[in-house]
Amino acid sequence: MDKVKELQRMIDESKNIVFFGGAGVSTESNIPDFRSADGLYHEKYKYPPEQIVSHTFFVRKTELFYDFYKNKMMYLEAKPNAAHVKLAELEAAGKLKAVITQNIDGLHQLAGSKNVLELHGSIHRNYCQRCGRFFDADYVKQSGAIPRCSCGGIIKPDVVLYEEGLDQDVIRKSIQAISRADMLIIGGTSLVVYPAAGFIDYFRGKYLVVINKSETAREVGANLTIQEPIGEVLEKITV
Ligand code: ZN
Repeated sequence: MDKVKELQRMIDESKNIVFFGGAGVSTESNIPDFRSADGLYHEKYKYPPEQIVSHTFFVRKTELFYDFYKNKMMYLEAKPNAAHVKLAELEAAGKLKAVITQNIDGLHQLAGSKNVLELHGSIHRNYCQRCGRFFDADYVKQSGAIPRCSCGGIIKPDVVLYEEGLDQDVIRKSIQAISRADMLIIGGTSLVVYPAAGFIDYFRGKYLVVINKSETAREVGANLTIQEPIGEVLEKITV
């Protein structure tokens, strides 16, 4: 059976779709997953990415954190791909109610999505740790080795680092959206990263679809599994 046709039928039938996406949604916009480190980058940084992107590292080696963060996590030239665009169209048509994302690049909003729940924060929000003033991504990217506020305080990205907890309000809204959905599309994630795996348990709807280029690590009992890049799949969907 043609899997895209099957997906189209499910979308046509559904009225409350929720999308849950991971790093794979952004790779088609040429944003590599910072965890998939290549050899060069190991040579340059000497620390594993998970260690650099941790709260302790941010506090103790702020300059090195920002060197990595600006080079490997801030892709300000990236453009939304077909997946972002189609999801925004589905929301505008009233069929999709929420996008829950593990990405921090803001590409869903750039494509026009309104209800985006960012589990890991966003590179587009940065705040002074001393006075609370907010700064955009350009300011941080173009600042010196350690971005500072005019008050002298060090700026911190509103991104959830390792050792830091997720925003409880975002978690609550995500669970609420999933528990109300009649269709849940999971895309571009291996489902191993907390809290993705646990979220699926709240789904009570009819259609659970997994779209991921590589095999998903966890058997989730999906009604439909498509092992292809998410953008290439959603591009074929008619809203
Ligand atoms: Zn300040």
